[in-house]
Amino acid sequence: STFTYEFNTPVYKGTSSFNTGLFIGGKFVDGQEGETIDVINPTNGKLITKISGGTAKDVDIAVNAAQKAFDTVWGLNIAGAQRGKLLGKLADLMEEHTDELAALEALDNGKTFGWAKNSDVAASVGCIRYYSGWADKHSGKVIETDENKLAYTRNEPIGVVGQIIPWNFPLMMLSWKLGPALATGCTIVLKPSEFTPLTALRMCELIQRAGFPPGVVNIINGFGSSVGQAIAEHPKIEKVAFTGSTLVGRKIMETAAKTNLKKVTLELGGKSPNIIYDDADIEQAVNWAVHGIFWNHGQACCAGSRIFVQKGIYDEFLKRFTEKARSLKIGDPFDADAYQGPQVSQIQYDRIMGYISSGVEQGATLHLGGERHGNEGYFIKPTIFTDTKPSMKIVQEEIFGPVGVVIKFTDEDDIIHQANDTMYGLAAAVFTQNINTALETAHRLHAGTVWINCANQLHPQIPFGGFKQSGIGRELGEYALANYTNVKAVHVNL
Ligand code: NAD
Repeated sequence: STFTYEFNTPVYKGTSSFNTGLFIGGKFVDGQEGETIDVINPTNGKLITKISGGTAKDVDIAVNAAQKAFDTVWGLNIAGAQRGKLLGKLADLMEEHTDELAALEALDNGKTFGWAKNSDVAASVGCIRYYSGWADKHSGKVIETDENKLAYTRNEPIGVVGQIIPWNFPLMMLSWKLGPALATGCTIVLKPSEFTPLTALRMCELIQRAGFPPGVVNIINGFGSSVGQAIAEHPKIEKVAFTGSTLVGRKIMETAAKTNLKKVTLELGGKSPNIIYDDADIEQAVNWAVHGIFWNHGQACCAGSRIFVQKGIYDEFLKRFTEKARSLKIGDPFDADAYQGPQVSQIQYDRIMGYISSGVEQGATLHLGGERHGNEGYFIKPTIFTDTKPSMKIVQEEIFGPVGVVIKFTDEDDIIHQANDTMYGLAAAVFTQNINTALETAHRLHAGTVWINCANQLHPQIPFGGFKQSGIGRELGEYALANYTNVKAVHVNL
């Protein structure tokens, strides 16, 4: 069926209309078992629409469509330049529909329209465009060995790949997955999050219009326990790329190991340290620390949720950081001046509130916030804890909400020890005016990304991924191409 929504908001007026079926073999179809998913508006908790949901049967049909496309019109049957051209067209179409995509993202996820437009959609377009350029450039190498012998390598597409994404950056995560897989010649069976399916559905039609052959991209909405599990299990899927929680990532790896030993890329959680030395530019550090933890309402895997401040500027930093956090405007995602909208769902709201209670129960000081904002929807005020202990849940576990802990440190050795004292290793930020301190700290941190005098910067050219239990493999940049290719070595005896 068709979903039509009239946006009549201060920042965007327009109508969005698209099919809510499963996108398989280039067509919209209903799920084999008639499942539906309720799409809820996080701003008021009300139903936006119902959409079709899939099950293992639909995954199987989609895998066959993807296999057929791989064997006939995609994979090694099409020039890289042609794949690049299609990706380029898709990027152009996404750019043309920037406002509509941003409005759908704001409606479905609760992020503000402004951020969705200038950050999420812009970055998604940039990512697809970046990989359009790679499609005809990911060549192998010639390797000379003994006299009269040489070898060359080929980067061959893996085949049908399964992709499973979360709800925090629905369109951006979709783009990070589609870009490198399509550039390298893989075909795709992708599952969006059941909490945020709308932009992925809108993208199906743009993918059709860009001219991708049927079956190259298949998108199946559904629940993790059915569609997600079926993707992880399917014997014809040789690779699964997952972004989400460490808990589910572990399950997917287990399933992949038990079935056909699928290759796995995992982008998982984080508890990223944000380190502010005494000699930092305090104004700059405060601004980035606020962005670090409150951007996207704290629902970022790389959120700078542990804010470590050296003892000399601790009091001054805390004062300014608190003032700035208190001044953030919470409101409807379509208010032009809102910085923070609602959390994505009732489940997340309850989870975050549970962490806030645990912080208080375990004896931390609730320095700011900790409460609901308004009386409908899933809004939580920016929250800051101080006087924590390293063993507390709010210091160790990923809260995935607007909750930061501010912790004092003495010197570089102390901060390296405290910052690395976590099972995660996704990202970190360092603030100092001293280049030696900055680089030395960056090199000693166990993190896949280190930002110096900034935070939460993501670029399609730059690899992103985790050390330790934050994941396996890298997305973005040239590195992501390896996730979707098998290297074949051809030996030649002349
Ligand atoms: P989640 O793990 O609950 O769900 C992610 C996806 O997995 C969803 O599509 C879900 O339906 C699916 N899923 C759930 N159970 C499954 C199962 N048994 N088998 C297969 N699939 C299953 O995570 P979430 O709550 O949607 O997202 C938040 C998490 O994502 C956070 O931990 C965050 O750190 C992480 N994240 C990481 C990155 C990164 O790049 N490292 C980026 C964004 C989000």
